[in-house]
Amino acid sequence: MTAYSKQSINQQDIDAVIKALQSDLITQGPRVAEFERSVADKVAARHAIATNSATSCLHLACLALGLKKGQTVWTSPITFVATANCALFCQATIDFVDIDPKTYNLCPQKLAEKLSIAKMNNCLPHIVIAVHMCGQSCDMQAIYALSKQYGFHIIEDASHAIGARYQDKYIGNGQFSDICVFSFHPVKIITSAEGGMALTNNDELASRMSKLRSHGITRSDDELFEKDRGPWYYEQQTLGFNYRMTELQAALGISQLTRLDEFISKRRYLAHRYNEKLAHLALDLPFMDAHYQSAWHLYIVQLHLPNKRRAVFEYLKEKGIGVQVHYIPVHTQPFYRAQGFDWGQFHHAEKYYHAAITLPLFFDMTEQQQDYVITRLQDALA
Ligand SMILES: *Cc1c(COP(=O)(O)O)cnc(C)c1O
Repeated sequence: MTAYSKQSINQQDIDAVIKALQSDLITQGPRVAEFERSVADKVAARHAIATNSATSCLHLACLALGLKKGQTVWTSPITFVATANCALFCQATIDFVDIDPKTYNLCPQKLAEKLSIAKMNNCLPHIVIAVHMCGQSCDMQAIYALSKQYGFHIIEDASHAIGARYQDKYIGNGQFSDICVFSFHPVKIITSAEGGMALTNNDELASRMSKLRSHGITRSDDELFEKDRGPWYYEQQTLGFNYRMTELQAALGISQLTRLDEFISKRRYLAHRYNEKLAHLALDLPFMDAHYQSAWHLYIVQLHLPNKRRAVFEYLKEKGIGVQVHYIPVHTQPFYRAQGFDWGQFHHAEKYYHAAITLPLFFDMTEQQQDYVITRLQDALA
């Protein structure tokens, strides 16, 4: 069975983790800071805060931006549930903005319409979370312009998009957002087994997130409320969590980051190869904008005949091909329906969902494996 995605671990990765395991500190040591510096330098951001998951980073990002009860977060319904859940962790309210059917990303025009209505009703969002679906950037310039007009914060959920570029710069550089979040789950572009990182250029946001990551505690001289209390002294200044990354995870992350460019060029190669070989089938292929260099986390096709989706999916599974569907629209999950959402609310997202299938795409995938997927998909559609 080929999975839709999986990690690629080489000897360098293994050696790095063993070395970390043999060192004095297996958590709260120097490797986390080194991983943070390496990612921040790679994408040209000022600060990076590593955690145990992107979900934790999204929570920290919302808290650092002051999100609280009575305020609202807007995001795309075509994302993993964690993007919406982080608003509810803060007792805030969630709402969704429909996708652009071409890019599967949050639609800036729909956002503009919803904002102008929200302004009249005095219920503008505090934060908009832009999800770079499949690793292709949202139209950040348009979303950023709206944030200036209506006064909301922007978090980029770039869980799919480390190493992707927008306007020839790496996503995560903070040009169009307050905070950008990467995931290092094994299905993503690079992995630390579990892990995430929040990037920002804002000193204050970085300091808040770093404190909240570790119980609300600081030891840093310039942050202490009370000075000169002794070398053992630390202060808990707010209510935080234990969202820390271990040294083992950071060691793997550092090693994987050195392989990032190689990972993405292989993914791009396989994606273009799919594009060529699937062009004649009754499918919509992924939209590629020349100005947005995707990280190709996911390769998603949409069937022209959505009522065949289940049969095609089951046939491919039967043939040992690890297809998936990304994602069931978040607002249709039972948990979110219990909050008042329902089918029928976000038309493009739902239409996309009914037709979508994610085909396998990962670094160690061979051309033979890919040809097998292509042939079986042809059979399924015949
Ligand atoms: C994977 C993913 C997350 C959660 O990442 P974790 O590191 O597993 O917590 C959040 N948002 C999106 C869009 C994702 O794909």
